[in-house]
Amino acid sequence: MEKLSNPQVTIETIKKYDFAFQKKFGQNFLIDGHVLDKIIKAAGVTKEDMVLEIGPGFGTMTQYLAEAAREVVAVEIDKALIPILTDTLQEYPNVTLINDDILKVDIGALVREKNGGRPVKVVANLPYYITTPIIMGLFEAHVPIDNMTVMVQKEVAARMQAGPGTKDYGALSLAVQYYAEPYIVANVPPNCFIPRPGVGSAVIRLTRWEEPPVAVRDESFLFSLVRAAFGQRRKTLPNSLVNGGVPVTKEAVAAALHEMGLSENVRGEALTLAQFARLSDLLRNIAGKMLMNKL
Ligand code: SAM
Repeated sequence: MEKLSNPQVTIETIKKYDFAFQKKFGQNFLIDGHVLDKIIKAAGVTKEDMVLEIGPGFGTMTQYLAEAAREVVAVEIDKALIPILTDTLQEYPNVTLINDDILKVDIGALVREKNGGRPVKVVANLPYYITTPIIMGLFEAHVPIDNMTVMVQKEVAARMQAGPGTKDYGALSLAVQYYAEPYIVANVPPNCFIPRPGVGSAVIRLTRWEEPPVAVRDESFLFSLVRAAFGQRRKTLPNSLVNGGVPVTKEAVAAALHEMGLSENVRGEALTLAQFARLSDLLRNIAGKMLMNKL
């Protein structure tokens, strides 16, 4: 059977099933074999691998993954796609389909069951309306993952890869880079999809660190600092942290910054991940004491 990456085959499949694309599910299906080859290569998929695919659509990427991997588990929310996938993937016995919302699936349990808890690869052309919850959900749940190689909106890929002092640098950059090393594999124009999305796209590979690149005593406090710092990114750190609800005083933030050799007028956008981690450790004790005094 000819692959769905041939646009003609995708068009025939739409007609055969009278398929109506659902905008609310972020349905833009890939129709470019070169892009798919690049994604599989960048992910480094081998016959040893179990791959988790999020949102298989018609199964275009799934066909490539099934040929390259030992086993593919594909989670699709749209029940109208399940009979179509059963048809387009009939030649691939190593694919398991799950009709569910990826945000509701216990991926940790799935990986234990299907891959003995060994790290899996995540490969997907993601639904853009939930890119961040999917990626951060997988990292924060500490699901064993080698890498995630995913299609996202171009601007989101730029934010994930950005460093300090750039306009794209923000809470997402720091959150992603705490868990993984980002690498933008390719930019992908709208004409590689049916229907064409209204935005540019990019493939990004996030290679999970074995250990986080910085040591921090309290991860959730670190991320509450980061969120507050970029909630008001034009304000100095003492102001943005206090206004953002971190339980510290402006004086304490200024003192911690001085101890780090930084000005109290510095903004969050200038700090590296390592500096945020150090600030977090310095402030955590103070914040803890302030909360105790309130009780
Ligand atoms: N992988 C296909 C391709 O590249 O042609 C389709 C990609 S399309 C951008 C995103 C897919 O994710 C759609 O099939 C959509 O129905 C599915 N999807 C959307 N939200 C989802 C969710 N919460 N859980 C699982 N799948 C979802």
